[in-house]
Amino acid sequence: MCTFNTLLLPASTSLDRVNAVARELGWGLFAAQGNPSIEAAVADALSYVRADGGCDCGSGLATADTTPYIGWSDGEVRKLNADGWSATKIERWKAQREAARAKVANPAQPTVPAQWCTLLERLLDGRIAAWVGVFTHDYRGALGSRITCKPVQRFSGVTVGRLSAIETDVPYVFAR
Ligand SMILES: [Zn+2]
Repeated sequence: MCTFNTLLLPASTSLDRVNAVARELGWGLFAAQGNPSIEAAVADALSYVRADGGCDCGSGLATADTTPYIGWSDGEVRKLNADGWSATKIERWKAQREAARAKVANPAQPTVPAQWCTLLERLLDGRIAAWVGVFTHDYRGALGSRITCKPVQRFSGVTVGRLSAIETDVPYVFAR
């Protein structure tokens, strides 16, 4: 099971322009996800995920840490627990990761909701899309598999606070 954050855009949006912004912000490029359930839930929407094939486990918007990254995340710890690591071994691993993180000159990275907020704001402010949307889901099968979406939530304006409160399986649409 893997988590993916989907980017939703009006069908007429230029993916090249979106990817130019994504590249500038240091994101991987987006490619069509083509999930019929998500695209049916939001009128005129096409769905995209990052093209590098990597999942968003540990950085799913619905489960993302809202604290700056200190070398480990709650999602990573959950995975180690699931892998059968002992509490002692996990504490030692955390201490090593925090020490390694502290050595990196670059201060704490922006949180996942903050990164998404920057991307979505750029797409709206740059008039690359009239609205933007996000959708987070834990996939059991293919990225195109059938999903039961909850009712769409619409907002004018995108904020870190709103992105930090995202729930799984709810399509969120933000307009200017
Ligand atoms: Zn995964």
